[in-house]
Amino acid sequence: MAVWDDLVGQERAAAQLGAAAADADAFVTAESTRAGSAELSGSSMTHAWLFTGPPGSGGPSAARAFAAALQCVSPDRALRSGPGCGFCDGCHTTLVGTHADVEIVRTDLLSIGVKETRDLVRRAQMSPAGGRWQVIVLEDADRLTEGAGNVLLKAIEEPAPRTVWLLCAPSTEDVLPTIRSRCRNLALRTPPVEAVAASLVRRDGIEEGMASYAARATQGHIERARRLATDERARARRAAVLKLPDRVGDVGQALKAAQELIDAAGADAKEVAEELDASETEALRAALGAAEGKGSRMPRGTAGAMKELQDRQKRRATRTQRDSLDLALTDLTSFYRDVLARQLGSDVALANDEVRDVVERVAGSSRPEQTLRRIEAVLGCRDMLDRNVAPLLAVESMAMALRAG
Ligand SMILES: [Zn+2]
Repeated sequence: MAVWDDLVGQERAAAQLGAAAADADAFVTAESTRAGSAELSGSSMTHAWLFTGPPGSGGPSAARAFAAALQCVSPDRALRSGPGCGFCDGCHTTLVGTHADVEIVRTDLLSIGVKETRDLVRRAQMSPAGGRWQVIVLEDADRLTEGAGNVLLKAIEEPAPRTVWLLCAPSTEDVLPTIRSRCRNLALRTPPVEAVAASLVRRDGIEEGMASYAARATQGHIERARRLATDERARARRAAVLKLPDRVGDVGQALKAAQELIDAAGADAKEVAEELDASETEALRAALGAAEGKGSRMPRGTAGAMKELQDRQKRRATRTQRDSLDLALTDLTSFYRDVLARQLGSDVALANDEVRDVVERVAGSSRPEQTLRRIEAVLGCRDMLDRNVAPLLAVESMAMALRAG
């Protein structure tokens, strides 16, 4: 299995990255045999890439596959299939995240700051221990603060000779124009539903019926599809969200439904916190030299570090809650798209086939203009959350707008 198999439904991007990895390999080989005579400019390889694509199109997986191909040391890599065998030490360690020259940065916070970025830039300047490439994958480049973006810009403008930056963002608009203009853009598309379903069956061993349900329900969002297919709780959550359109007719029910959405998002955040916070806190206490046990006193001068961790945990909880709400809003939008398709007489397959009866009922009892206004109400809610309106307020106002239609 080659590393490109992970790029579900992205044949064009895989071809482009494959060509770049082959040129990168030729460059490394040339440099090691004839000192200093190799040239990167003019080839299909370059030092900075920006992977863009709608959520779920698999930017981070594509970046990781490319990183693996750059580190591929298979003796067959110069042959027709090119680097990226998926099996050799270079490919394998990159894919499992232990390659010494590949740093994968993903954040569970809403933003990446100047300090973290400076550390990365320092790391990027080191020569690759394995003699190939120093690769930095920044999965959430859209979360760089402006200051952090400027720190990164300097590093991208004058890259070390064997350093490669792989940035991922939803779209080119999500990164500073100055950074965007120095990166080669690799645009991914939303993969076709059938390709996602096939990948779930082949890669994850998921049964066919479940795979096609999950792929259809998430409309080509690979990670969400995998989660839906493997996690019963995710399916229950989705079912609850899809009941909302049926409940908003009554004011009391509408407000209750809004509160439930918020509670569910809060529960998700709490679960993540319970999983991570205590162990992080204990690890930090140990590192700072506190005696074992929860209640023991902390050594002098360590309050700042503890405070920093608590702030970080609080920010992570906010983001988890936001992500959870975001999923619910995505499901709702998709529901009303199905309603609209029915109202307009389109016979495309419903994304929310499991609630076909509700889709038909809402479609029969409202007009297309109402459906469009409802879709706008859901998108408006997301806008409000982006502008940091209190979540309950935003969701309540959405529920009321859905009701009025
Ligand atoms: Zn390999």
